Amino acid sequence: MSVQQIRHFGDPVLVTPAQPVVDFDKELRKLVADLTETMQAAPGAGLAAPQIGVSLRVFVWDIDDQLGHLINPSLDLSSEMEEDEEGCLSFPGLTYKTPRSIRAVAKGFNMHGEPIVVEGTELLARCLQHETDHLNGILFIDRMDEEVRKLAMKEIRESEWFNSAVQNGNAPTIKVSPHKTFGLGL
Ligand code: ZN
Repeated sequence: MSVQQIRHFGDPVLVTPAQPVVDFDKELRKLVADLTETMQAAPGAGLAAPQIGVSLRVFVWDIDDQLGHLINPSLDLSSEMEEDEEGCLSFPGLTYKTPRSIRAVAKGFNMHGEPIVVEGTELLARCLQHETDHLNGILFIDRMDEEVRKLAMKEIRESEWFNSAVQNGNAPTIKVSPHKTFGLGL
């Protein structure tokens, strides 16, 4: 297991739809272990494979002291929505009010290829939606109301990590964020 570099907004892998997992093998189990370790080191509440540069439909979470992972997920969502502060490890230090369904049921597989169903409310529901979005190349800025999104884009452009990525033409190393973190990164 090893901690991987987390890709930041601006990296093309984050807006690329990920491929379904076909082989439930040792490599997949190593990917789940790497994702879990990288998420815990961040620390964060969730992490999807594209965020460490692997374009496969796999994500992990750590919510209410429960570690989980899901492979090739599909989602059923409640029509009832709520807005809450949401962060993303690919946008260090930034959190914004983001609307999500209150309840989510995710169907998929564990790393051994066994079918599993995960039912979540509140933060877990939010996480299941946020991480499944990552697998489709969708980011939380795409889910924000227009006004919030405008503010987010302004703050992203002003952020140190984004500017160093632009200058280097690649994913930056993580630097101290100019913003306070009030929420959890996902
Ligand atoms: Zn994220």
